[in-house]
Amino acid sequence: MQPTTVQVAILGAGVAGLEAARVLQASGVELIVLEARERIGGRIFTLHDETVAVPIELGAEFVHGEAPELRETAHDARAPIYDIGGERWHSSNGTLERLDDFWPMLNAVMKRLDAKREPDRSFEQFLKTRPGGAPLARARTMALQWVEGFHAADPARASERALADGGSPGDDVRERRLGRFRDGYDSVPRWIARDVASRVRLGAVVSGIRWQPGAISLDVRQASGDSVTALEARAAIITAPIGVLHAPPGEPGAIAFDPPLDFDRVKSDALRRMDMGAVIRVTIAVREPFWTSKRFVRRAKSQNLDRLAFLHTSDADFPVWWTAYPASTPLLVGWTGGPRARELSSIGDDQATDRATDALARQFRLARREARRLVMGAWTHNWENDPYARGAYSYILVGGSDAPAKLARPMQGTLFFAGEASDAEGRTGTVHGAIATGRRAAKQVLRVL
Ligand SMILES: Cc1cc2nc3c(=O)[nH]c(=O)nc-3n(C[C@H](O)[C@H](O)[C@H](O)COP(=O)(O)OP(=O)(O)OC[C@H]3O[C@@H](n4cnc5c(N)ncnc54)[C@H](O)[C@@H]3O)c2cc1C
Repeated sequence: MQPTTVQVAILGAGVAGLEAARVLQASGVELIVLEARERIGGRIFTLHDETVAVPIELGAEFVHGEAPELRETAHDARAPIYDIGGERWHSSNGTLERLDDFWPMLNAVMKRLDAKREPDRSFEQFLKTRPGGAPLARARTMALQWVEGFHAADPARASERALADGGSPGDDVRERRLGRFRDGYDSVPRWIARDVASRVRLGAVVSGIRWQPGAISLDVRQASGDSVTALEARAAIITAPIGVLHAPPGEPGAIAFDPPLDFDRVKSDALRRMDMGAVIRVTIAVREPFWTSKRFVRRAKSQNLDRLAFLHTSDADFPVWWTAYPASTPLLVGWTGGPRARELSSIGDDQATDRATDALARQFRLARREARRLVMGAWTHNWENDPYARGAYSYILVGGSDAPAKLARPMQGTLFFAGEASDAEGRTGTVHGAIATGRRAAKQVLRVL
């Protein structure tokens, strides 16, 4: 059979790949999007479960800060985003107190990071110098949780320079805003894909890319079988997560590049200086919003928790929890990131859910039996073991503050790179960052076509 030929092949139908396809299609470019999974959206993965009143997000959930690319898309899609607001609380094994100074505390530590530090060092090394001394001891614990939880990073490997540059909202109140899609995050990829849907091939796993300047041959395997077809293109945009680019050829989802990417020094630097962070999120639907009940408030000797949005704890397994606030749906989401999440990824979904339920019992001071009785349903997705993600999202390793920019650089006007890890503006690991890279890669391609 003759291989199919297109001008541009796009690997991946996450938001980066779809956005690149949308821009190229609007310029009349003939393209195809090859997506390994049987769905679009990649790390945006929303479940609509009829037993729960709100969408269940297994991947991206929040709109972080201004995120203009995302808010514009949401506006065009008429997909409402609501601000979360609400209150942050802290639980120390069930002793609850309001945490009104979360952002100032975080900022007190993060502002001491040095974006120009020579040589770069790890976040852990930075913390060892006890920045801010004794008065900031608690704030340093918060900052460590932030780097492990929000950045999904291993503090012993994460770059101080990179974290100093966009690693927290600082004192910008607009960047501290958090939003959520009322109808689910999946409304974003669905909207971006609306004009390119016929160009997306699902269940198409790219296993090999042979290339030379101006000519690419891709091996595409059907996810549901073994048949491999060839596809030829003038250029390709690779949006696979960095975890997939790291995977050795032959592993599920891995791509054998010929010549390999790391024959180019810029690309090999980029790949060495970034890694996938680990995250486990367990969403638990409970029978009733017990934390708002008078009985609970009396027992916890706390004020009313009706506006509880986030609960920060020192739990070793699941230190951060959030509710569906402002929706009143009785849902609790347990989150852990970094090295702990990597460990927990190996124990299986049911056990992770049990561990999350136990953490919930500890932090809300419920009897274990009572906590288990309250659980009506639980959902999680193991991103670590997902062959097409191999982790949650990227973070930058010591010495790699320029790694995203290096990843973004095209190779010989033929291979182009998009995806969250290639955002050079400090927005790696986010949806808006990923959309921006799709636009940027499409423009790079248009310049050479
Ligand atoms: C648990 C979790 C929570 C998150 N929370 C947030 C949040 O609250 N806010 C936020 O802004 N961001 C969040 N993110 C990050 C955000 O989801 C990502 O940054 C963004 O969706 C990445 O988009 P992308 O297009 O770069 O990559 P992806 O969405 O991963 O798209 C890449 C695509 O390539 C496909 N692919 C991989 N290998 C192959 C292959 N060999 N052949 C063909 N196709 C292949 C994949 O299946 C995938 O669809 C979260 C991520 C996770 C995992």
